[in-house]
Amino acid sequence: MSATLFVSDLHLCSTRPAIARLFLDFLARHAKQADALYILGDLFEYWAGDDDLAEPFNARICSAIHELAESGTQVFFLPGNRDFLADADFARVSGANLLTEPHRAEIGGIATLLLHGDTLCSDDSAYQEFRCKIRSVAWRSGFLAQPLAERKSQIEALRQLSEREKRIKSAASMDVNADAVAAAMRSHGYPRLIHGHTHRLAHHEQIVDGRTCERWVLGDWYDSGNYLLCDRSGCRFVMLPAA
Ligand code: MN
Repeated sequence: MSATLFVSDLHLCSTRPAIARLFLDFLARHAKQADALYILGDLFEYWAGDDDLAEPFNARICSAIHELAESGTQVFFLPGNRDFLADADFARVSGANLLTEPHRAEIGGIATLLLHGDTLCSDDSAYQEFRCKIRSVAWRSGFLAQPLAERKSQIEALRQLSEREKRIKSAASMDVNADAVAAAMRSHGYPRLIHGHTHRLAHHEQIVDGRTCERWVLGDWYDSGNYLLCDRSGCRFVMLPAA
């Protein structure tokens, strides 16, 4: 039966080689059997710009995705907050189709809304303000105009700041906001919603305007791997053993 797989929040980087190997194995075995693979953001710990495609770790990951796409599995990439600078060259080298969010797709016969998930975390207003700034065309072109090494060191500084902030912010403010979820469901005709970002793997059923909606939250790839498999009979999580 034709299946569509979803992953997000792998945060791949060369300092976690076991998880990278697990992902390569997932591509070669599980994803190869599927019709389509959707990567819903934060595939990489960070992406400093498409001029970093030659970096050996990035090149290895992108060529493995390209191999999967060549073998007949369609690959879609919806950028997350860590890799929103991935652009046309990334798409060409990886063979992935770049999506912009919100993206709506027919998955196993059901209208499904796909998001990275950070836009749903509306309680964290400082983050939303920051997100708005860095997603502007002006910020993007200004940032990308700087040398690659300079961009990487700025991203590193930002990551350390965000780690410190995460310890201060309440767990609740970093989860999705129920009204933001309801609004997303409402404006897209109450479809099934699949997203990542919060790393809180779960299947939620919630009533929006009297309609039962489903929300699937993808898990991260820190201790092990996982993906969501959807087909005509529905969706289910598949856990991959630690590498
Ligand atoms: Mn994220």
